[in-house]
Amino acid sequence: MTTQTSPAGQPASGFHIAVKVHQRTASRALLLTTLALFGASAQPNIARGAPPAEAFSGVGAWVSVFEASVWARPERAVADMRRRGVSSLYLQTASSRPGPAVFRPDRTARFLRAAHARGMRVVAWYLPPYARPGYELRRALGAVRFQARGGDRFDAFALDIEAAPGSPGPSLRNQRLLRLSESLRRAVGPAYPLGAIIPSPYGLELPRGRRWWPRFPYRGLRRHFDAFLPMGYYTYHGEGPGAAFRDTRRNLEILRSKTGDPAVPIHIVGGESGASSSAEGRAFKSAVNRYGAIGASMYSYGQMGGEDWRAFSGLRLAPVGEPARAAGGVSATPVTHGPRHRRLVALTFDADMTYSMLDRIRAGTVRRQIDGRLFSLLRRTRTPATIFLTGLWTGEYAGFVRGLARDSLFQLENHSYDHRAWTSPCFGLPTVTRRAQKAAEVTRTQRVVKRVAGVRPRFFRFPGGCETLRDRRLVARLGLRTVGWDVDSGDAFEEHPRTIVRAVLSGVRPGSIVVAHCIGAPNTPATGAAMARIIPALRARGYRFVTLDRLLSAEVSRPHESS
Ligand SMILES: [Zn+2]
Repeated sequence: MTTQTSPAGQPASGFHIAVKVHQRTASRALLLTTLALFGASAQPNIARGAPPAEAFSGVGAWVSVFEASVWARPERAVADMRRRGVSSLYLQTASSRPGPAVFRPDRTARFLRAAHARGMRVVAWYLPPYARPGYELRRALGAVRFQARGGDRFDAFALDIEAAPGSPGPSLRNQRLLRLSESLRRAVGPAYPLGAIIPSPYGLELPRGRRWWPRFPYRGLRRHFDAFLPMGYYTYHGEGPGAAFRDTRRNLEILRSKTGDPAVPIHIVGGESGASSSAEGRAFKSAVNRYGAIGASMYSYGQMGGEDWRAFSGLRLAPVGEPARAAGGVSATPVTHGPRHRRLVALTFDADMTYSMLDRIRAGTVRRQIDGRLFSLLRRTRTPATIFLTGLWTGEYAGFVRGLARDSLFQLENHSYDHRAWTSPCFGLPTVTRRAQKAAEVTRTQRVVKRVAGVRPRFFRFPGGCETLRDRRLVARLGLRTVGWDVDSGDAFEEHPRTIVRAVLSGVRPGSIVVAHCIGAPNTPATGAAMARIIPALRARGYRFVTLDRLLSAEVSRPHESS
């Protein structure tokens, strides 16, 4: 396989490793299934007034300029696609090599006519190497403006973003990519549907991917494109249905998190179809059904056999702009305790920090916001605990947080970026109101914690516990589960340890989640002293302390299991 045959992410770039390409010998003969194999119904073109991203919805079929057998008979290929429930044909107009803007204009015209006659859309795609920016923009626009005799045009355009032979290094590549994207958008206007075909977001997170394309500009691209089409290519990152499911889930999650937009329209591409087993194909479909996408396909049409199409049977796609089902598989119901059949308790400590607190720390008017007494107690008594980190605290005490991450006693989770409340009033906290800012409270913290501690939080706790169902749904869409508590230590602004001790000892039951803080004076001055009495008292009652992970994983063990 060469660069030119596959969009976004190819072995030649040194990024993907072709683990195997066991060419299937199965006949490509058309298994004429009369049923619509896909649950999604095909829609003709794009309805007037529909969002431009609609152009990338539904089931797709990919045809590169190198698939001679498909180009030999456009009408036959299109008729087959239609029978299989395809709503959009993704037709390559040009490879990274110099040449005309539209490959074989007469054949291209036949594809357009045949597809439109069957109510299908045709999306043009092109792969620029970022070597000659002006020329590449003209080629992209050549596809957008292409008009067949009889008037047929492409319904949308997708830029195939990858590094091709002749591409510059990452930083110049990013610069030219964003400039090309901006010029393209300016030339076609705001209503023309533009898609970004991007390499596997999961692959970009792997060490090789990070070296190959560091700082991939997700947010910059989101400004110019209506939809993302990640080339999942799970066949490169591992083998078997487990890997296909994981890659697909991660691709959707990472893209939502990196763009900071939980509703970003995604058409996810799996495959390669020639190397994908039917079990892998079904795992891909299950992940799409569970984590949500507006469109799905396998690369490429010419390599798809009957079993690939059958694997898609029962595919359920989400409507544009409403990826509610794309809850990342995460429930919006908050966790407030673990199973009640074992004497396990999770102590959780919130590391609050607002910008005004940060100002006071910097000005030297408050002390270091780390409860040293508490942490040395936890370590000395080997007491596991879960720490909910704000992004500001993590950044301010990066060295300390790294130490927590290295210590198996501690689990690190997300407590917003700057501890603003999501609803108001909330204990006098400043508030965050806009949805995009709320999402950023979560995603910025994910990034800081990942960068500083190397871990990726999976749980989120709202500052002050102030939130609505909508807020929890937003957090779930970002892939995090909301965690509350069933025992409030009441340590905020409490000077007397015994008040805290009483509250916790009278409240704890098997499976309890206790909320307290780990920032010390002035806001929570008595927590360490109180915990010095709480921990031995609960152990004496037969309780065992566990991290949140352990507490919740106890759910899967049988109720009669002894502890
Ligand atoms: Zn807090």
